[in-house]
Amino acid sequence: MTNTKQYAYVDTYGCQLNESDSEKLRGMLIEMGYEITYDEFEADVAIVNTCAIRQNAENRVLGNVGELVHIKVPRKKKIIVFCGCLAGIPETVEKIRESYEHVNLVFPPNEIHSLPEFLERAKTERKRVFIEDSKEYKIVEDIPKHRDSKIKAWLPIMYGCDNFCSYCIVPYVRGRERSRDKVAILTEAKGLVEGGYKDITLLGQNVNSWGLSNHRHSALTTEFSETIRHCGLRAAIPSTEDNNQGILHQVQNDVTFPNLLKDINAIPGEFLIRFMTSHPKDASKELFQAMAESEKVARHIHLPFQSGSDRILKLMNRGYTRAEYLDKIAYARELMPELVITSDVIIGYPGETEEDYNDTLELVEAAQFEAMFTFIYSKRPMTPAAKLDDTVSPEEKQKRFENLVTIQNEISEKKHEAYIGKTIRVLVDGEAKGELYPLKARTNGGRLVHLVGDPSIYGSFVDAKITHSNNWALFGEA
Ligand code: SAH
Ligand code: SF4
Repeated sequence: MTNTKQYAYVDTYGCQLNESDSEKLRGMLIEMGYEITYDEFEADVAIVNTCAIRQNAENRVLGNVGELVHIKVPRKKKIIVFCGCLAGIPETVEKIRESYEHVNLVFPPNEIHSLPEFLERAKTERKRVFIEDSKEYKIVEDIPKHRDSKIKAWLPIMYGCDNFCSYCIVPYVRGRERSRDKVAILTEAKGLVEGGYKDITLLGQNVNSWGLSNHRHSALTTEFSETIRHCGLRAAIPSTEDNNQGILHQVQNDVTFPNLLKDINAIPGEFLIRFMTSHPKDASKELFQAMAESEKVARHIHLPFQSGSDRILKLMNRGYTRAEYLDKIAYARELMPELVITSDVIIGYPGETEEDYNDTLELVEAAQFEAMFTFIYSKRPMTPAAKLDDTVSPEEKQKRFENLVTIQNEISEKKHEAYIGKTIRVLVDGEAKGELYPLKARTNGGRLVHLVGDPSIYGSFVDAKITHSNNWALFGEA
């Protein structure tokens, strides 16, 4: 008997929002009757969900898309799909058109809900399909999702970005900021808790401006079932109205992110609420107060500062000063002494002088982050900074990068040492290959713990005694 099953493979690059988009891609593929495979050679449809944030991310993706030419050989009818943020850059799409002929379908991130229709076209039209951004910036609810984990869930609360930081490509590829409806978010959160999820991360490029964006633009919300009715999907997708009947607790009237946190916190059950990312300019006292009042909100905030120099922050269009940033984290720690603060920094922004760099070092010393992601500035198409001369030499950037990483590693190491000997509550959220530490867990503040314990505790909150640490993780016994 021949195997008539059709297999789909989804490869994801980049941030949590892309991970969440890939869960939607898999969900739609399953609705269309595909089985999900993790082997690209087995796939009838292979999708690459790409990331555009830095040039090295782009190079890596394009290299791997090039390699996919090899999966075409055994079964010629394979469809190779290029989507995600790189599919929103006109020059990159041109490159795909000219040099990656094995790619059959290209569509930008804001059109993801039409995957069934696009795939149908790619199969029947006998020519390559290139979709452009409709610039409608719709919110499409009820897209089926195939979640990767049974413990941790991504919950997007907004899409796009209106901040236009001068170096960043996101506003150009993800479009205008729009917020999901509060009831839709609460319904999904409640469903996740009832489904046994223990760790829910609210996603957005700037979660602190959730709810505000729809006053600026009228976000158009549609149901997935309406957008693909003509594609003949199998399942009947419940309407938002049916889903909403489960929201019983009192919701806050003011549509602000701090109030959304309080509303989710009021859902009964043992679970953690995380969120990312917060833009410092919109991280208000109300946000920190709401965190402090809400026992289910994790004691962690990822608050990228990007530079410690006021001059560079202004050029980056970040909307805060170094002093304002430090004041905010001081206030947050006053309210929540156990708060874990992590951050992002960019070094080598065009025009960054030794003095600017020293300001960044000083901020890092003053802020004492638990962890920090250090990025070397990367010139991105369409951004205002791309017009500036890249003044810092690659050698100098590398030197500044290594120095900063060393300084942060020492801080992280010291911060982690303070956990040794303590017994803390962790969520066991992963299994590891090593025999010494067969489990992985996260503290409430999001720090990774390599854990000794029985595999049966996977998926539960347990108390763990921390026995040692290094600069990136803790080690302990359940
Ligand atoms: N919305 C988030 C950031 C998303 S991008 C926020 O504003 O915090 C994740 C990180 O990538 C950013 O915090 C920044 O540090 C880095 N980044 C963005 N564009 C970059 C570029 N052109 N070069 C180097 N790093 C960049
Ligand atoms: Fe990019 Fe700034 Fe928007 Fe973050 S807030 S996605 S860095 S433009």
